[in-house]
Amino acid sequence: MAVRSEKAPVVIVGGGIGGLAAALALAQKGVRTTLLEQASEFKEIGAGIQLGPNVFRMFEVLGVTDAINKLAVFPEFLMMRDSITGEEVTKIPVLGAFREKFKYPYAVIHRADLHKALLDAARAQPDLIELIASQKVVGFEERADRVIVKTEAAERYEGAALIGADGLWSTIRAAIVGDGKPVVSGHITYRAVLPTKQMPEHLRWWSMVIWAGEKVHLVQYPMRGGELFNLVAVFHSNRFEEGWDSYGDPTELHERFAKTCEPVRTLLGKIESWRMWVLCDRPPIKEWSRGRVTLLGDAAHPMLQYLAQGANMAIEDAVCLANKVVEAGGDYAAAFQAYPKVRYLRTGRVQIMARVYGEFYHAAGVAKELRNMMLGGRTPEDAMASMEWLYGEQPELRPAALVQHAKAASA
Ligand SMILES: Cc1cc2nc3c(=O)[nH]c(=O)nc-3n(C[C@H](O)[C@H](O)[C@H](O)COP(=O)(O)OP(=O)(O)OC[C@H]3O[C@@H](n4cnc5c(N)ncnc54)[C@H](O)[C@@H]3O)c2cc1C
Repeated sequence: MAVRSEKAPVVIVGGGIGGLAAALALAQKGVRTTLLEQASEFKEIGAGIQLGPNVFRMFEVLGVTDAINKLAVFPEFLMMRDSITGEEVTKIPVLGAFREKFKYPYAVIHRADLHKALLDAARAQPDLIELIASQKVVGFEERADRVIVKTEAAERYEGAALIGADGLWSTIRAAIVGDGKPVVSGHITYRAVLPTKQMPEHLRWWSMVIWAGEKVHLVQYPMRGGELFNLVAVFHSNRFEEGWDSYGDPTELHERFAKTCEPVRTLLGKIESWRMWVLCDRPPIKEWSRGRVTLLGDAAHPMLQYLAQGANMAIEDAVCLANKVVEAGGDYAAAFQAYPKVRYLRTGRVQIMARVYGEFYHAAGVAKELRNMMLGGRTPEDAMASMEWLYGEQPELRPAALVQHAKAASA
């Protein structure tokens, strides 16, 4: 099942969750990679991240399940509450029957912990994965049998193939798809982490909670064994064009959430310093490979975070891509043609449905009443059935078929 014959490694641009997962998935098939990251060290910033059963299936393939299980929190419920009245709209149990149905758990984790688990696994395989920081990729040249990647520091890296896992503002996408800037959604996210001792006791639920409001919503959940709570506040604003990770303006936040109930305003009042993201996505595309060059994760299919699946999808991409490399016997151009074909409908569905869920979380008037009625009327079984498409097993992500012998990927 391994593809051991190539001389040059595969170059991966971007040492985020997607890039590391790609390096690990390819290492499992015996493929060497060189991972180039523009930052001076490999690390994640930000706060929490939700993990669906679909990505736990991938963790098993990548051999990182135990590391993740040590760091993740396994909530009891997915809960939606009306952020104006404070009333519970729906509460879906995600232990017990949910776990039995999907075979794998639902969890939440600090981004830094997820990234570190992948990074540690990558560092444990120095013969197969080379990690190089402080290398901002600015371009590449395609040759018949290889790709030459160029960095801002005028370094050149030769690879049998190139994977752009360089996120929303991907340089590699600009070169091979060239569809301009991402779409600014008009939704702004403020994120913060609150030590649990500062969290009001009556709100310390062991659950993922969405306080859905009118053009606003707030998400809360515990992390790091319950030491911390992740808080994510989202609201509509046209003040910003683009940008991320700058400090947010709490005055605007409090204005936007002025109509929400006391628990929501109390939670927002606990945080002095928020990090701000201007949320962007793109409409789905069908093809994101050219010859020996392909994309993965946000570079291929950036999505709004409302289904909490961007990183989950990036990790699924990685496993699928490595399977396709094996199935193609190490012929990267063939593998990179096959891989988006089996991914674009799934990732496109998540991109589109994430927008729909954004509308749902921010509904007002009749739409809000309808949302509360529809979700409130569901049984846990109904709710689980509606998640089957997302959390259920995907045929294209099963282990690759046995390939007798690998073609040379590069001369
Ligand atoms: C508020 C918010 C909440 C979210 N919550 C969830 C959630 O609960 N669950 C979930 O699954 N997803 C969630 N997401 C989405 C998730 O964060 C992204 O989909 C995921 O991080 C994408 O990973 P990636 O590796 O593709 O890209 P990125 O994480 O963006 O990583 C790209 C990497 O490439 C590097 N890079 C970029 N350009 C270059 C270059 N030219 N040269 C070298 N290196 C380069 C960057 O420095 C970075 O390290 C959320 C997103 C947001 C904004």
